[in-house]
Amino acid sequence: MRVIVLGAGVIGVTSAYFLARDGNDVTVIDRQQGPGMETSFANGGFVSKLTAKPWAHPSVPKLILKNFFREDAPYLFRFRADIDQWIWAARFLSHCNQKSYAHGRKVCVNLAKYSFSCLEEVRYSENIEYNKQSNGVLELYKTEESLIAASKFAKQLPDPEDHPEILDMDESKRKEPALTNQSGEYAGTLFYAGEETGDARKFTVRLAEIALNLGVKFNYGESINNVDIKNNNVTGVTTHLKKYSADAVVVCLGSYSRELLNKIRIKIPIYPLKGYSVTLPIRNESSAPIHGIHEISRRIVISRLGSRMRCAGTAELAGFDRSVNMNRTNSILEDIQKLFPDLTNINDAERWAGLRPMSPDCIPIVGLSKINGLLLNTGHGSTGWTWACGSGRIIADLIKGKEPELEISPLSPSRFSRS
Ligand SMILES: Cc1cc2nc3c(=O)[nH]c(=O)nc-3n(C[C@H](O)[C@H](O)[C@H](O)COP(=O)(O)OP(=O)(O)OC[C@H]3O[C@@H](n4cnc5c(N)ncnc54)[C@H](O)[C@@H]3O)c2cc1C
Repeated sequence: MRVIVLGAGVIGVTSAYFLARDGNDVTVIDRQQGPGMETSFANGGFVSKLTAKPWAHPSVPKLILKNFFREDAPYLFRFRADIDQWIWAARFLSHCNQKSYAHGRKVCVNLAKYSFSCLEEVRYSENIEYNKQSNGVLELYKTEESLIAASKFAKQLPDPEDHPEILDMDESKRKEPALTNQSGEYAGTLFYAGEETGDARKFTVRLAEIALNLGVKFNYGESINNVDIKNNNVTGVTTHLKKYSADAVVVCLGSYSRELLNKIRIKIPIYPLKGYSVTLPIRNESSAPIHGIHEISRRIVISRLGSRMRCAGTAELAGFDRSVNMNRTNSILEDIQKLFPDLTNINDAERWAGLRPMSPDCIPIVGLSKINGLLLNTGHGSTGWTWACGSGRIIADLIKGKEPELEISPLSPSRFSRS
């Protein structure tokens, strides 16, 4: 089958790889000059098999109000004259309740665990190097109360083997000696042994090379203008350069998926949620953590990527602006300095901003659309690196006409038209 994949981020490249493995004739189109150049470029690196959860949590509305005027707030809503933003924000807030959260968390973890098994299989068959680190992740909690609540919550994971260890700060420092000189007040950590970290861009670039060898054509530097449809069947794609014919088209355009799909009257409520990362060379090896670190109160994640540290976080509802805000990245650098004072020289930081393609229920949109031959693989929000391999495998199965191994109705694009 001739399949066109729109977008060469981590989601588009994993989709193309699985499609090529199944024997399809695959073409990937992207406006950038290479793979993983937009949101998949410098993310937090967490492969959150067990800790994937929706950001629409009951505590979020209060948190937004409390920090409304703080430039360094973890969640920052900058309202603009943009009706889509207001509608998205209202829908997101409507999911900040216990029932939606419990449902979302189950869906997020199921997809994350499935995706992790697909990633392991790719790793095994392709021998990809992407600075993988599998020593587990420590979640840092400020108060005893929040630590206990989080551990109770974690015990809802159905498999007891997935439950984290609760550590006080002395035990945490023994496990992670790099925390010895941290200057914050913390009650303790939850240690998730099964979690991993790794460089999503490296993985994307390497997998694109492997896909190229499997026969996938990568057409870079082309802007996609439209999906072509006749009698409710997809017929191809039009870019700013030419027209392509196809039997199937997979939309993996991250935050830009909504704009393209609007043109063919498919409404999907994806909105960009901006985040930042800083990447620093490790200057002092003994001060560098060997685990992934998640500072819960500031909502930042820290991953070791070979000889570099990546620290990422914050969420800003600010439209499609991708400029780097110095104040917000400075506050991430302050956080990293407090945690690991001797690690690095913060003047060497590479600062980056990316747009998380967020759906209001924080669940990705993966599946068949109402147009025959048009599939969506988008809206992966804050967890796209974690969910990439599983989502790509699902898309390849759907194109093959095979039932995916995972129950995919909660990911369905039609769930928004139903609501
Ligand atoms: C600060 C931050 C930290 C994060 N941390 C983590 C983490 O620790 N773990 C995790 O699992 N996830 C994390 N994420 C989320 C993850 O990075 C994203 O979910 C993922 O990268 C989305 O991938 P994508 O392929 O959908 O989008 P993208 O990587 O943005 O790819 C979309 C592609 O479409 C192309 N495109 C768009 N429009 C057009 C057009 N009209 N014509 C041609 N090409 C077009 C773009 O050039 C781009 O290459 C983080 C995100 C951010 C911002």
